Amino acid sequence: MNSEPILEHFRQTNALLEGHFILSSGLHSPKYLQCALALQYPPDAARFGRAIAEHYADQNIETVASPAIGGLVIGYAVAQSLNVRFVWTERENNEMTVRRGFSVRKNERILVVEDVITTGGSTRECIQALESRGAKIVAAASIIDRSNGAAEVGVPRISLVSLDVPSYKLENCPLCEKGEQAIKPGSRTAK
Ligand SMILES: [Zn+2]
Repeated sequence: MNSEPILEHFRQTNALLEGHFILSSGLHSPKYLQCALALQYPPDAARFGRAIAEHYADQNIETVASPAIGGLVIGYAVAQSLNVRFVWTERENNEMTVRRGFSVRKNERILVVEDVITTGGSTRECIQALESRGAKIVAAASIIDRSNGAAEVGVPRISLVSLDVPSYKLENCPLCEKGEQAIKPGSRTAK
């Protein structure tokens, strides 16, 4: 699956907006990403899930794990495609942890899946929470890589699309300079 049809799907579902936006960080950007919109219909999520799963067909993945909430839909789709178990990590008192009675076996081979990687923070925290329980994290994957390859998560990592999303401080924003009005799209938590 190459990246252009994926980006086209993101544009069609308004998951990728192009214009002049105020991000939750307060920075301005010509692009805005809301991955959940691209995954509303199960066949779309399944298609992206298969595209990620294909990379790991021969890696003896036993479990797919995702950081909640962003990774839940795509993680589940990848697990379905690999026909393996799916679990997630979530924050409790601001610390990423394994809850809900999910257990992790020592040396269990886990693939960590996110929707969007920006700095890699959520993925890294998810990996740490699972490793602290003895799991072997084989790799990490996401649909979109907003870091353009820069995010380091400590294990091999792939993404279906690498996207350069520039962001600017108000005083340096070239779009503001052109006099274009910045808008604030629906909320998305920074990570
Ligand atoms: Zn601006």
